Amino acid sequence: MPGTSEVRHNITVSDSNNTITWVIPGADSYSFGIGRSSTLATQEPTCMIYKGQFFPSKKDLKRLVGLFSMRENFEWKVKRSNKTTLHLVCIIDNCTWKLRVVRRDEETYFQVKSFVNQHSCPLEEVHRRHRQASAVIIGEVIAPRLQQHDGRLMRPKDIIADMKTMYGIQVMYSKEHDALQYALSLTYGTHEESFKLLPSFAYVLEQQNPGTITDLQCADDDTFLYFFMSLGSSIRGFRRCMRPVIAVDGTHLKGRFGGTMFVATAQDGNEQVYPIAFGYGDSENNLSWEWFLECLRGALSHIDDLVFISDRHASIEAGISKVFPYATHTICCWHFVENMKKRFHRKDVADIMDSAARTYSEFNYNRHMEELHRLHKGAFEYAIAAGPHKWSRVHCPQRRYRLMTTNVAECINSCLKFARQLPMMTLAEFIRNMLQKWFHDRHAAARSMRHQLTDAAHLVILKRVEK
Ligand SMILES: [Zn+2]
Repeated sequence: MPGTSEVRHNITVSDSNNTITWVIPGADSYSFGIGRSSTLATQEPTCMIYKGQFFPSKKDLKRLVGLFSMRENFEWKVKRSNKTTLHLVCIIDNCTWKLRVVRRDEETYFQVKSFVNQHSCPLEEVHRRHRQASAVIIGEVIAPRLQQHDGRLMRPKDIIADMKTMYGIQVMYSKEHDALQYALSLTYGTHEESFKLLPSFAYVLEQQNPGTITDLQCADDDTFLYFFMSLGSSIRGFRRCMRPVIAVDGTHLKGRFGGTMFVATAQDGNEQVYPIAFGYGDSENNLSWEWFLECLRGALSHIDDLVFISDRHASIEAGISKVFPYATHTICCWHFVENMKKRFHRKDVADIMDSAARTYSEFNYNRHMEELHRLHKGAFEYAIAAGPHKWSRVHCPQRRYRLMTTNVAECINSCLKFARQLPMMTLAEFIRNMLQKWFHDRHAAARSMRHQLTDAAHLVILKRVEK
């Protein structure tokens, strides 16, 4: 109905002149994604001080003076401080620089009463361990440059380099870490705000992307437990035309609350990473994996001949056998071979294991296993006990196709390496943004392919013919 508006999930939906607008309260205060720098602060904070200037609190004043002194390369100290007065002077004794602010009894704000911005001390002295360069102040200075030229987020070591070049200040790594967290919260909102917006974000995501499935679980005291997200286009694409092999993996979230990110990924016909679902949880344990896999089953419905690939995490094994009893669970052969390399300290043993795992023929498999038996009986027994149906292509009850490792899932983790420190909702939006770009680019690439097969498949055949 035109001209109406309603409130659902704390979101105002207004429909005027057939244009639907979704308003997520509070979301306008910071950026949703990190790919749109136009919405980010691009100017460094201004730090002007003048006589007559007002400050709502002493804290605000100290913040500004901190920034100011860092720019001007001097340090200050408090000469006098009480409820109504704050008197700051240059740290070098007898220097003329001073700032005095007062608050009248009936007022709530402070006002600059006198400000002498001239030093009689030699300012050339470099204040390397600047006392006023707190994490908050450094955070404010670096916030406009959080997103680096190559698109990645700033790292603590970038901050250290920047502060040294710009201000000649050398600050401890621990302070840089806090500064980065503060700058992130300035630009992308705090973790608490982000968590509060997650239900609204999930609701809009489902409304705007048909077929999208999200789920959010909180404990009885409203603390966060789990979040799940699978875009409608991911689900449809996988059901329609992907090989039914899913790599699952868990990796750490690097924000203040820590936790784990769960990923379910396939590989498309052009050998590209095809993400299906994402989830956040407290850690990798039986409950969190089971929850993620149940959401995944709900999103995908039944898939015939489904195969999972994972590392040998016991919670994944338990979760898959409980939630997908009809699916085949296999293990990543790269992880398996690496494990054997560490266990038996023999490269030749690991190499022969790798060949046995990857071969397509039973004859070659037997040949490699006989060789393994001859090289190292213990390694042979270890491989048999792990279950050849789990690690070898030829003994897998279902087809694994070319997917022998969880590499596709690890690729996603690596693409999200820096985004994993963002607050929850911003990370979810970052993922949505990234997938939208991927799907758009692949759609364009697929339309320009000239063979009946994908470029990757065509290349495989060409190489075989050349052999
Ligand atoms: Zn001075």
